[in-house]
Amino acid sequence: MADNARFERITEEGKCIGCGLCASMLPGKLAMAVAPSGYLRPAASAALSEEETDAIYAVCPGLVQTGLPEELIGPETRLDEVWGPIVRIDMAYAADPESRHRAATGGALTALCDYLIASGEARAILHVAAGGARPSFGKPQVSEDHASVLAAAGSRYGPSDPLSALHALLDRGEPFALVAKPCDLSAVRLLGRREPRVGALITHFLTPVCGGFMPPFGMDAFLARNGIDPQEVAALSYRGYGCPGPTRITLRSGAVIDKTYLELWGSDASLWHLPWRCKICPDGTGEAADVAAADAWPGGAPTEEMMAEDPGTNVVIARSKAGAELVARAAEAGFLVLDGGATTADLDDWQPHQVNKKIASGARYQGLREAGQLGIETPGLRTAALRRRMDAETDRAQIEGAKQRIAIGKHRDDFGRES
Ligand SMILES: Cc1cc2nc3c(=O)[nH]c(=O)nc-3n(C[C@H](O)[C@H](O)[C@H](O)COP(=O)(O)OP(=O)(O)OC[C@H]3O[C@@H](n4cnc5c(N)ncnc54)[C@H](O)[C@@H]3O)c2cc1C
Repeated sequence: MADNARFERITEEGKCIGCGLCASMLPGKLAMAVAPSGYLRPAASAALSEEETDAIYAVCPGLVQTGLPEELIGPETRLDEVWGPIVRIDMAYAADPESRHRAATGGALTALCDYLIASGEARAILHVAAGGARPSFGKPQVSEDHASVLAAAGSRYGPSDPLSALHALLDRGEPFALVAKPCDLSAVRLLGRREPRVGALITHFLTPVCGGFMPPFGMDAFLARNGIDPQEVAALSYRGYGCPGPTRITLRSGAVIDKTYLELWGSDASLWHLPWRCKICPDGTGEAADVAAADAWPGGAPTEEMMAEDPGTNVVIARSKAGAELVARAAEAGFLVLDGGATTADLDDWQPHQVNKKIASGARYQGLREAGQLGIETPGLRTAALRRRMDAETDRAQIEGAKQRIAIGKHRDDFGRES
């Protein structure tokens, strides 16, 4: 019997993140497309069997998010309750000045990718470049040389489906590295439990620490605030060319409009427009990654002064032995400049939104379940222990807050578009 309704429940409950993995798993039956809500969503063209839906449920970040596989957590690993497995934390930036300038922060991820290609450890990088269905979106890109790695530098804060290209790359049978959001990486780690080519071919899992992306209605509102017709936008880059650099909108007429990071997002993370799944994310710190790279802005946002003159330096968290060795080799080979260390207390200061979200997520999932939805399973992410940091009153407020938001439809993909 067709099991499509169970599959579609993931999107109906606002839990699809649009990563594209299900479409990559079932290419004859599912394809990523822009839904009426404006999000990238899997569209079914055929009946799904119960086994196929089960296979999706086992990996989908809408239902389950995990961290590093246990076998990658060794004696060298320190396990921080909030920040997860850590082998080393470095401040770092790309040695190549052009990469540092063009990248989102300091180009640490670009430098690691460049090193992997140049050393021959990986034949390709699967990551995200600008474009796809809309100029504000991201699309999967397979890069095999420095020029294409650099062309995909920068953060894509719009819907992006890197994993829709995963199986095609696995089919090539060559080693590659994967750069994707924390939730995307979790999905591939879980896939690796039943797909041996994941472990055999993916040399490294790399991630930008992620506070969530901008939903299509948020982008439309931003363009409208600035008097820009979305139809007139030819290209859009969110950051880069400085740290964070401008959000640059190029119109079909050729005119270029620059806005600042703070004009796009605002300085208060609690007011960011985010997809529902991002608001209730159990881990944006990238616990499933070998290496996670982030910004280091006190309080979580840049000041006007920083936006004007910061050349960009990442905080780089190596979570596995393989990740720590990659950082060391890339530095030794002259791709990455290491510029001191950092502590988890620094991370708390630079990423307060990550800390708050992780602590609240368990109570929020109870709220989802009390509202009749599926929760999100979080094996290995210490969600129950983190939840105990809240007092009973705050815990209850989180449960009730999630329920109230579901009652008014805030979880729905079209919320915000219709109001
Ligand atoms: C949606 C999103 C939210 C973020 N939220 C935070 C946050 O809360 N706190 C924080 O400190 N940092 C956040 N970042 C990370 C930050 O913007 C930088 O990406 C990070 O510091 C790495 O910088 P870099 O200079 O090393 O990256 P670069 O050298 O520019 O490389 C970035 C790499 O990430 C890939 N990439 C870009 N966008 C995506 C995407 N959407 N999905 C998958 N891969 C992608 C690119 O292809 C490239 O390989 C976020 C990034 C994204 C994409």
